[in-house]
Amino acid sequence: MATDASKRTQPQVLLAVVGWPVAHSRSPQMMNAALHAVGLDAWRYLRLPVAPESFVAVVRELPALGYRGVNVTIPHKIAAAELAEVRSDAVEKTGAANTLWFADGAVAADNTDVGGLLDAIPREVRGLRAVVLGAGGAARAAAWALVSAGAADVTVWNRTRERARELAESIGCRVAHDPLASAPDLLVNATSVGLDPTLALDDALAALRLAGSTPPATVVDLVYADHETPLERWARRAGASFVHGLEVLVRQGARSFERWTGRTAPLEVMRSAVGLDSGGDRPAPARVRV
Ligand code: NAP
Repeated sequence: MATDASKRTQPQVLLAVVGWPVAHSRSPQMMNAALHAVGLDAWRYLRLPVAPESFVAVVRELPALGYRGVNVTIPHKIAAAELAEVRSDAVEKTGAANTLWFADGAVAADNTDVGGLLDAIPREVRGLRAVVLGAGGAARAAAWALVSAGAADVTVWNRTRERARELAESIGCRVAHDPLASAPDLLVNATSVGLDPTLALDDALAALRLAGSTPPATVVDLVYADHETPLERWARRAGASFVHGLEVLVRQGARSFERWTGRTAPLEVMRSAVGLDSGGDRPAPARVRV
């Protein structure tokens, strides 16, 4: 049996989130709670602020410093995909990686934003009509997730239409001129609209060309914040099924965790660490903003 002294001398296995900036990331609290819950007490998950010009050199040094793997966030996801010697299909298709691990002198990469979104959607995606709002990295991962899961029709709407067109061409889906024109069953907000807690519901809906419309049956808002987002309010008011961005965060994190540790991710512990209740939902919000 390990004594207290021997536990203290165990070598640490390190994980981290690498970003610039990275102070806002909720991953350390979520991952450290998960590591503790499965008994990996010698493992630590840290924050590594790394400037873009240092990213490749820093990642190459990490294995020698005791790192098993890292999450990668803004602005490094494309650089992470490019530096990896081994890439998952999700990385090949999205051109971005959010999870790296180090094995046999090589860097391997996955984009768990893809599978994490699918894990968070509480219904069969195959055969659904879906729309993705946005054309940045989150939208690209979402669009590819839905196409790869067999959605019958995936459209992309973006404020800057040219970016939507580029995304749709590379993923193999269509551009929407009006977000709800295809009468979608599922809407994924992958824009940053809603991050600002002072943004009123009507202004958010106007920005996303959703004013006066009824939400689809299922709404996913990738934006996560401590306030109720406008899209959450829009969806819940109409009785739509709503998937919180924090649930997607937990599910992508769970996939990274399982990749590094080989253990089943303790979802309830991870939800609790980021402030979700046990269903991946929030308690009915009192903090409502219109
Ligand atoms: P990004 O590359 O900066 O893309 C931002 C997108 O938002 C663009 O499509 C942009 O449109 C659109 N946008 C910004 N302001 C807008 C406005 N006022 N009206 C209409 N559209 C607007 O960001 P990203 O990395 O894709 O992330 C998008 C969001 O998803 C962020 O809030 C991020 O935190 C969240 N996210 C969540 C998770 C999760 O696990 N829950 C994972 C990844 C990302 P233009 O092209 O016209 O500028």
